[in-house]
Amino acid sequence: MNELIEETRKRRTYAIISHPDAGKTTLTEKLLLYGGAIRLAGSVKARKAQKHAVSDWMEIEKQRGISVTSSVLQFDYNGYRINILDTPGHQDFSEDTYRTLMAADSAVMLIDVAKGVEEQTKKLFYVCKQRGIPVFTFVNKLDRYGKNPFELMEEIENVLGIRAYPMNWPVGVDGDYQGVYNRKLARIELFEGKGNHGSTAMASKAGDVHDPEFKALLGESIHNALCEDIELLDMAGDQFDFAKVKSGELTPMFFGSAMTNFGVQSFLEEFLQLAPEPAPRLSSQGEIKPDGEEFSAFVFKIQANMNPAHRDRLAFIRICSGKFTRGMEVLHVQSGKPIKLAQPQQFLAQERAIIEEAYPGDIIGLFDPGVFGIGDTLCPLGRDFTFQDFPVFPPEQFARVQAKDTMKRKQFVKGMTQLTQEGAVQVFRQPDSAVESFVIGTVGSLQFEVLEYRLKNEYGVTIIMDRLPFGVARWLAGSEADIKAIKSMDSGLLVQDIKDRPVALINNEWSLNWIVERNPNIRFLTVPEDS
Ligand code: GDP
Repeated sequence: MNELIEETRKRRTYAIISHPDAGKTTLTEKLLLYGGAIRLAGSVKARKAQKHAVSDWMEIEKQRGISVTSSVLQFDYNGYRINILDTPGHQDFSEDTYRTLMAADSAVMLIDVAKGVEEQTKKLFYVCKQRGIPVFTFVNKLDRYGKNPFELMEEIENVLGIRAYPMNWPVGVDGDYQGVYNRKLARIELFEGKGNHGSTAMASKAGDVHDPEFKALLGESIHNALCEDIELLDMAGDQFDFAKVKSGELTPMFFGSAMTNFGVQSFLEEFLQLAPEPAPRLSSQGEIKPDGEEFSAFVFKIQANMNPAHRDRLAFIRICSGKFTRGMEVLHVQSGKPIKLAQPQQFLAQERAIIEEAYPGDIIGLFDPGVFGIGDTLCPLGRDFTFQDFPVFPPEQFARVQAKDTMKRKQFVKGMTQLTQEGAVQVFRQPDSAVESFVIGTVGSLQFEVLEYRLKNEYGVTIIMDRLPFGVARWLAGSEADIKAIKSMDSGLLVQDIKDRPVALINNEWSLNWIVERNPNIRFLTVPEDS
């Protein structure tokens, strides 16, 4: 097998999607623990530290002093090269969080056993679904009381519209689980002792479910209950069908506890076996296969350095095909210019390390002299194709912004244009507006502060920002006359996006339904039709 194919097959590039506090940071630490990247996971210490002040990765970096990046974390396990993509949550939830999923080949959906499917998880799940990214489920905090496992399966199906296939099943009683039963191997793994706060990999015992030793260990009633559950799952549940996982109809479901390490290692091992390797990507010239010899990649995130002295921007690319070598020259398709990739970066703790080579599935950072935009393609010189456009995500928070000092109009427009290109916010125009103002939309409120800060610090423009009372944006499809005469929009606002497509900004879902009913000739789309 050639080197490129071998390296590509080793790659597993995935994101962990969850609602804040479900345990993403803890699980990530534990995955690193098993990967040997750290010897002592620090959830105990981290818990005591001030939480959520910065992004989770930076938090881990500070706590552990280990090699993690601001956007991706790479480690090796059992012959796999794993890239975990960070999906910022908490107050820095933004479009970036969604766009990161474009670089993933699969996602791990982390659910708190007591809370079930929460709001942010839902949003991220739908993006995965829309993009055809297979989702694996890890139900966390099994060391605590929570919802019944059957109830959770039902909730996943009802709320997310995907069937769940339990790969393992908790053993014991709610709040006092003793281990997990692995359905494929028909084996029980029992965990011993809970006293060490999960700071080391946990010892476990494995054996056949009918092993008298297990029966004795579990006690008659727990053993019987487990056998009943398993029988029910086998009879009434779905068959495991990997094609359905790939097509988004089925999610393999695991139970465990990131904090006490319960079920984490077996999850990691099964997940790595099942999780897809880097997949072919669709381009304007057909499918680009990862093991094609020619290098190609796309930009999925641009991060500005907040330090005004440097002002450098970093473009994060996901390699789609071919081998990357430092210093190679490629075509940046959108500008039509050749670019030498001289200083590829990987982010190791506080330092940036230069890397020499990388393979499909890997994520690297490039210095951006201001040419890259989100979704841009890099391809071999002499070729000219683009990867599929990035989808537009429906913003949920809106504000009107204008320059406080009208003399600064030029810088204001320049700043807004560049920040839009970076994908920090979505910009809309109100066609008949008299003042030079923009309506901006975001998916998280931190973006407003970031915009204000950056316009001031990087462009010297102070802005006036008025939050608008809308919560829903819908792209409108229909005849121009119908859209112009749209009814019941008294409390809404009709605007245009940067491609001049009409968009209705509406207070809430309730008002939206009202408007939809009164405008049967117009279709209300959550994303523009051609994205
Ligand atoms: P994140 O916001 O998703 O990154 O969540 P964290 O990893 O910061 O965890 C949120 C809280 O849940 C912290 O107090 C963790 O210690 C706790 N936690 C995480 N995993 C578990 C678990 O398996 N069991 C219990 N009981 N608590 C957990």
